[in-house]
Formats: sequence, C-alpha cells, structure tokens
Amino acid sequence: MKEKLFNYTKLNLDEVFAKFYETMLSSPDMAIFFDSDDQIQKLVNKQKKFLLESIMLDDEDIRARYIQLGEMHHGLKIPYADFSVGIEFLEQGIIQAVVKNEKSPCELIDHTFHFFRLIKAYTAKGYLNLLLESDIKDIDIYLSNVRSSTNLDSVLSTERIIWLKNIIFAIKIENRAAAPSLKTPPEIIDIIKAETKSDKELTHYALDMISRIELTARNIFFFIDKKSYGEVLPLYKELMSIYKLTLMLVNVMTVVTAEAELSGLKKDSLTQLLTRHTMPHLMKRELAISTASNYSIAFVMLDIDHFKDINDQHGHLAGDKVLKEIAEIASSFIRSTDYAFRFGGEEILLVLKGASLDVAHAQAEIIRQKIESKSFDKGDTSFNVTASFGVVQFQPPYTSDINKMIDAVDRKLYIAKESGRNIVIK
Ligand code: GH3
Ligand code: MG
Ligand code: MG
Repeated sequence: MKEKLFNYTKLNLDEVFAKFYETMLSSPDMAIFFDSDDQIQKLVNKQKKFLLESIMLDDEDIRARYIQLGEMHHGLKIPYADFSVGIEFLEQGIIQAVVKNEKSPCELIDHTFHFFRLIKAYTAKGYLNLLLESDIKDIDIYLSNVRSSTNLDSVLSTERIIWLKNIIFAIKIENRAAAPSLKTPPEIIDIIKAETKSDKELTHYALDMISRIELTARNIFFFIDKKSYGEVLPLYKELMSIYKLTLMLVNVMTVVTAEAELSGLKKDSLTQLLTRHTMPHLMKRELAISTASNYSIAFVMLDIDHFKDINDQHGHLAGDKVLKEIAEIASSFIRSTDYAFRFGGEEILLVLKGASLDVAHAQAEIIRQKIESKSFDKGDTSFNVTASFGVVQFQPPYTSDINKMIDAVDRKLYIAKESGRNIVIK
C-alpha cells in the first residue's frame, strides 16, 4: 500500500504542488512569509522530498517528523489553519489521481486518508507543543510573583491558575488521568458568588465562563484520546482566551469590591481624608495586590510647619481652615487610585501606588510649592503657610509590617524639619 501511494504521489507531485502553492500564495497572509520565487522554489523542492520520504515511514516515525515540522511552522508564526488547508489540497489531488487510475481504489483511498490524517494531526501537535511550553512558562512567572500574597482575589486567581497549569501538563503528556478534576470546587463557586453578589449579571457571567472552561477542557481530552490534535489546537486556544477573560473578571471583581469598601470607609469630618484607623486594613489589601502585581508603592508624609504658631497667631478656627485647604490641595494632586489619610493632627500621609521615588518626589514638590504660594485669608488679612515632606519608595514583596514603613517615611520627614522646613526629602 505504501509503495502504491508513493508511486501515485511521485507521478502527480508536480501538478498537485503547483495547485497547492497557487492556493497558498493567493492568501496575502501566507505570501508575506516568502521573499522571492527562488525561495519558494527551494522550499517546494524540499517539501516534495519530505512528503515522498514520509509516505514510506511507519506511523511512529511520521509522528516524530511532523511534530517537528509543526514546531518549526509555529516558530515562523504560520497559522495552522493555512497549513491544514494546504495539506487538504495535496490530499485531494492525490486521491483524484488514485480514483482515476486504480481499478479498486477503496483500500488505497483509506490508506491515503490515514496518511494525511496523521501528518495533519502531528503537525497540529507540534503547534500545540510550543503553545503549551510558552503558556507554562508564563504561568510559572505569574506564580513566582503571586505566591506570597494572601489577598482573597489573588488566592482565587492563583487557585484557578494552578488548576490551568495542571490541565496544561495533562494535555502535554496526553494523559487525562493526570488532570485535576474538571469540575470547579464548590468553595470557589461560593467565593465567586459572594464577591459578585452586588451584581447579578456579573455572577452569571463568571459562572458561565467557568462552565465554558470546564466544557472546553472536557472536549480537549476527548480529542486527545482520539489523537485528533487538529481539533485540540483551536479548542486549546479557546480555553486560553476564556481563561484570560476570567482573570480580567477577577480584576474587575477586585475593583468593584475595593470601591464598595472605600465608599464605606470612615472619613475625617474636617478634611474629608480617610481616617488613620482605616489604614491598616486598607493597606493590608493594597500591599497584597501590589505584591501580586509587582508594583512599587511610595509613601509621602506631609507635616505643616509651625502649626502651633499659626493656631496661636490666627486662632484655632483659622488653623482648621488651613488644614482643610491643605488637605484639598494634597488630594487634588494624587490619582483616584491613590490614598490620602489624615495621619496625625496636622500630618497627611499619601500612598502612591506604582510610583517611583522620583515621581513621588516630584508630586510632593508640586504640593509643597502650591501650599507655599497660596495665601490663606483671615478676615481682611492673609498669611502664608509652609509644609515639610518625607518621601520613601517600597518594593515588592512587601512585609505586612506597615509600622516599619511609617517609621521610614517619618525619618525622612524628621530630616526635612531638621534641615529648616518647607522642603521635600527623599
Ligand atoms: P513643626 O514645624 O515642628 O511640625 O511644628 P508644629 O508646631 O507644626 O508641630 P507640633 O507637633 O508642636 O504642633 C502641632 C499642632 O497642630 C498642635 C495642635 O494644636 C495642632 N493641631 C492638631 N490638630 C489640629 C486641628 O485639627 N486643628 C487645629 N487648628 N490645630 C490642630
Ligand atoms: Mg506634627
Ligand atoms: Mg507640624
């Protein structure tokens, strides 16, 4: 049978390949992979030789050859769909030649189908291998950053990502038994329901995605059992894209919960800044998220200079007004995702997420200048006020010891006071 297929292929090779390339190169997506006709001709000759040699091999040897070919194609970023359209052309051309010339062609047609099914499937497997490799690498990078976090949202996404990693591993070794249960654990479903309870549509969406992930994973293993890698490849891509959506959804859930939490937090009645005692809880969450996302955090501590004298000279009410206006200036120069706490009597702590030391310093400097140049009215007179600033930047992974972070920024503020006030020290 092999010899017969070999002979038919050899006889019709030129004609079949001419059609194959006509179709392939008429697609602008494919044409970009070739620089010149000469380059195409060299490639065609190589492919003709490769195909003829493959026909005479055992299934196992075909496997190794075409997996390698798929990996090479994927490395060139040639889409598998284009490859498989091309192969169908070769297949059809050869089947037609067989049907035209062979007296009882059934068995040979079966053999031809079998051969082309193998080379398509194993090439798909080659594409799949490279995808699995790169996804596992990405997951490992993610996990190495997120492991130390205890934040609920990252616990949730970490659990799901470890599940995905195990699924990928089972796909890689083609063993369904190595895969974790495809059913999502009820605890995870409960967490999702609890986290999205304010938004029924979000709950529905999240649960729908989970069931799509389960179904897709089940289908992947169904086709792996049949070694139909051509079917596995698009399903795997779908699995990964649903996965990315669920991870984005976890992020949305984080934002929704954080906003709900923030709006319920106690604000200082004079300055409208967050009160000092909301800080430990809020920061614990922020530090976990920043560790997981590998963000830096900067603290800026502001202290009004000689505030006691301002009270003494202008009265306590005027002092209150100064405090209120300085709080307004400080909070107007931070982003909506940053935090401003009234930390002590006349001290304000700014928490700038993702800010470098230089950016935080520049931001503090703007606030310092705004305060310095503002004239504070009191009846028909006015007076000026200055403030001193300490700035510190922290890098992940964070310890949850917020007091140490406060001490660090306090030390900088102390230096600012020592060096004459109205200055930013980093
Ligand atoms: P320094 O430049 O060293 O910071 O001097 P200071 O006078 O600002 O520092 P000190 O810590 O000695 O005094 C802080 C003053 O801030 C004492 C307190 O009466 C005043 N203060 C604290 N909270 C309020 C408030 O809510 N309203 C008013 N008007 N004053 C306040
Ligand atoms: Mg003070
Ligand atoms: Mg002061």
